[in-house]
Amino acid sequence: MSRHSLIIAGGGIGGLTAALALARDGHRVTVLEQAAELAEVGAGIQISPNASRVLIGLGLREALERVAVTPTDIRIFSVRAGGEVARTPLGDLPLDRYGAPFWVIHRADLLGALAVAARTDPRIELVLDARVRDVAAEPGGIHVQATVAGRSRVFVADGLIGADGVRSRVRVRVRGGPPARYTGRTAYRATLPIEAVPEEVRRSTCLWFSTRAHVVHYPIRAGREWNVVAIAEDAWHDESWSVPADRAEVARVFGLDKARWPDLARELLSLPDHWTKWALCGFDCDFDWSSGAVTLLGDAAHATLPFAAQGGGMAIEDAEVLARTLIGAPNLPAAFLAYESLRKPRTRAVVEQAVKNGRIYHMPDGLAFFRDLTLRLGAGSHLTDRLDWIYRWKAV
Ligand SMILES: Cc1cc2nc3c(=O)[nH]c(=O)nc-3n(C[C@H](O)[C@H](O)[C@H](O)COP(=O)(O)OP(=O)(O)OC[C@H]3O[C@@H](n4cnc5c(N)ncnc54)[C@H](O)[C@@H]3O)c2cc1C
Repeated sequence: MSRHSLIIAGGGIGGLTAALALARDGHRVTVLEQAAELAEVGAGIQISPNASRVLIGLGLREALERVAVTPTDIRIFSVRAGGEVARTPLGDLPLDRYGAPFWVIHRADLLGALAVAARTDPRIELVLDARVRDVAAEPGGIHVQATVAGRSRVFVADGLIGADGVRSRVRVRVRGGPPARYTGRTAYRATLPIEAVPEEVRRSTCLWFSTRAHVVHYPIRAGREWNVVAIAEDAWHDESWSVPADRAEVARVFGLDKARWPDLARELLSLPDHWTKWALCGFDCDFDWSSGAVTLLGDAAHATLPFAAQGGGMAIEDAEVLARTLIGAPNLPAAFLAYESLRKPRTRAVVEQAVKNGRIYHMPDGLAFFRDLTLRLGAGSHLTDRLDWIYRWKAV
């Protein structure tokens, strides 16, 4: 197998997982990350078995088990019905059914574990405060121009992987792909010490469906903290990507003054003083990710609305498949094309599933009656069956 030198633009979940998978197979990797330190804004992420399997394969089980939580169950509440409509057990079930755990984890803990592993691998160079500006394919390789700690530098490698997120410069500038656009949904995120929330929701992943809005919450940080994400459809046109928000704004946007919300939901959404507000962006996925020795990975290639909790999972899967397609491929462009054709059908199906989930989660009351009835009748294993095609995934 040929060993390559590769530059990864972006040291997020996808970029760092790709660095570890590629280095495992003997390639030399330089990760250029624009942030001066690898600190994610306080928020959690659900890592389902399809993704935890890859992370465990990269040797991260012990590090992640120290900080992740395995929720006892998934509980679905309907604001229309005034309470819980379905519950499906989790705990050890994913381990038995899929051979890998379902984790909920703070993003900083996940990135921290990935970064520690990357820093201890001599084949990986992690350069922080390094913003990729431009890329040129030259006879000697791919030249990546970046601003590193305020100074211009050029990095040269056999290939480039754009893992620079939904607003990817590599996608738009280098691949001529579509720019990110606001999807009309805004996410509000907050974390709290676990003691601040009622005992009855401390160990579960909970989803609240409302009209044009939904809420997800679960424990993180080995059960010491609690994470809440509340998503609303609105017309926010702020240029900023993420900005602070407060309790009053959340109460207004989610209509907490109206009797409609059950007491428990209203209590939970009123707990945090400070929130971070995110514009959820997307783009049309119908374009080529790869050209020559340049390709894309993760949100840069296929922004996924968080309604299936799979954007990070898809980035992690991409990383593993990308590394595997390099094994035995005649050259990088051929490997990148093979990777793209392997990943496109699955990522497109997951992106579509997330859009479908969004419609189900945010249904108006009339339709929501039938949704709730279906959930009540088919709770438990039915819910798990519907997730099988996502969770059973294994890289081949
Ligand atoms: C509210 C919300 C909830 C979510 N919940 C889940 C969930 O439960 N489970 C799940 O799997 N997914 C979830 N996701 C999706 C998940 O967060 C993303 O899909 C995932 O972070 C994508 O990883 P990535 O590495 O592709 O991109 P990112 O995480 O965006 O990382 C991109 C990195 O590139 C860097 N970068 C950008 N431009 C440059 C540049 N020019 N030069 C150098 N570096 C650059 C950025 O600083 C960043 O570190 C959620 C998303 C949202 C918004």
